Amino acid sequence: MNRIAVFPGSFDPITKGHESVIIRSLGLFDTIIVAVGVNSEKKYLFPLEQRIKWLKEVFAGYSQIRIESYSGLTTDFCRNNHAAYILRGLRTSADFEFERSIGQMNKKIYSPIETVFLLALPEYNALNSSVVRDIYRNGGDISPFIPDNMNF
Ligand code: ADP
Repeated sequence: MNRIAVFPGSFDPITKGHESVIIRSLGLFDTIIVAVGVNSEKKYLFPLEQRIKWLKEVFAGYSQIRIESYSGLTTDFCRNNHAAYILRGLRTSADFEFERSIGQMNKKIYSPIETVFLLALPEYNALNSSVVRDIYRNGGDISPFIPDNMNF
């Protein structure tokens, strides 16, 4: 059986939290597609090409992991890529409420899909891309929060 999961996100930029969820799920899936969602309404700090380049560097050693970008519905991207699973991380109850409604709506619009959640590691619980962007914009050092093997 070829179990394909999509891990959708903005990765603006990828953090150690994202990296940890993806690596920890390697045993659950045959292929993980890290999919950078492009939303024309959303403003990003780092250009799409840069975010993809970082993802490719971080996961270069993993033949199970592919990096893609997409626009439109995540479920359409899953269908087109034969993915039956969406992978997400959970840090807080706020994440849970947000993810629950998206997961339930995704199931409604594409019934084969199952959303799989991994709990954040406690050390990454407070880590999110928007705080990392704030630190970066204000001249702080973001290296403790982003994967070690990316060329920042
Ligand atoms: P976006 O910026 O596209 O909203 P996020 O960075 O908020 O994406 O998160 C994408 C996914 O990664 C979500 O499932 C989120 O819960 C998960 N995630 C983000 N940060 C962490 C973290 N520190 N630990 C575990 N999961 C995380």
